[in-house]
This record gives sequence, structure tokens and C-alpha cells, in this order.
Amino acid sequence: MTKQEITIAFENYNDLSELEKDDQALCREAVKAMDNSHSPYSKFKVGAALRLHSGKIIRGSNQENVAYPSGLCAERTALFHWGANYPTDAIESIAVTAHTDEFMIEQPVTPCGSCLQVLAEYEKKQNSRIRVILYCIGGPVMIIGGIESFLPFLFFEHRLSV
Ligand SMILES: [Zn+2]
Repeated sequence: MTKQEITIAFENYNDLSELEKDDQALCREAVKAMDNSHSPYSKFKVGAALRLHSGKIIRGSNQENVAYPSGLCAERTALFHWGANYPTDAIESIAVTAHTDEFMIEQPVTPCGSCLQVLAEYEKKQNSRIRVILYCIGGPVMIIGGIESFLPFLFFEHRLSV
């Protein structure tokens, strides 16, 4: 038996002003994306924005449904739009933010496991990493360089080969 440890790297910023201009702009796109959030049940708006290699921006927001499982997260709303329309224009970064009138959000909100799985699939498809920028409005920002930092034991079929 051996014990092993995995370390992950990410960057912490005190606020938006510490980011590069392009990343600041992408965070603002994620904020704008929340305008179209359909979240009457959770009252928790989430916005996501992708920046593609060409510079194109794709926005997504959470879309809820009275039949709860029929809804979808902001990240996957944006990611599936990319997959359906711009699959050859690689995703460089995704910014995610959230807002609710119900309570203060004091830390960046992280993607759910299903969204991470989809991000991982698209990293593999485009053969390059996707930077994840998690923006807490009026607060700190985290930048993670790729999905492996979230899911180091991610399922991929190559792990099944001998
Ligand atoms: Zn999700």
C-alpha cells in the first residue's frame, strides 16, 4: 500500500480589478447573462460566459422548470450552445457568477459535478484546457487552469485499457 496526495493549483484574487482586462470583461458578460436566467423556483440566478478562440462570447444562464429535472445549469446552457453551433472555435475560458436577493453570496460559486463532466468532455474534444473563472460579484475571484484540477480522477475510457 502506498499513500499518495494530489495537489491542485488555482489563483485567488481579492476582486475583479486584479484580473486581466479580457477576464474582467468575461466576468461582466457572465453578469449580463443572468438577465435571462429563468429561476422562479430557486430565486438563484447563475450566469456563465464562454470566450472562444476567435474572441466570440457565448452567454448562458440557468433555466429552471416546474418539473425540476427538466431545467439546466447556466454553464451547460452555454456549453451545449457552443457544442451545437461553434464546435471548431475552441473555448478558452468560462466565467461563472451568481446572484440572489435571498442572501449574500460571499465566495465564488463553483460548477456542479455534471457541468464539470461536460467541461471535461469538451476539453478532450477540443484538445486544450478550459480556464474556469469563478466570480463573486463585489468579492473574490478564483481562476482554475483546467478541469483536471476539479476532477483528478475523472472517468475517461483510456483508464479502462490495460
Ligand atoms: Zn451545473
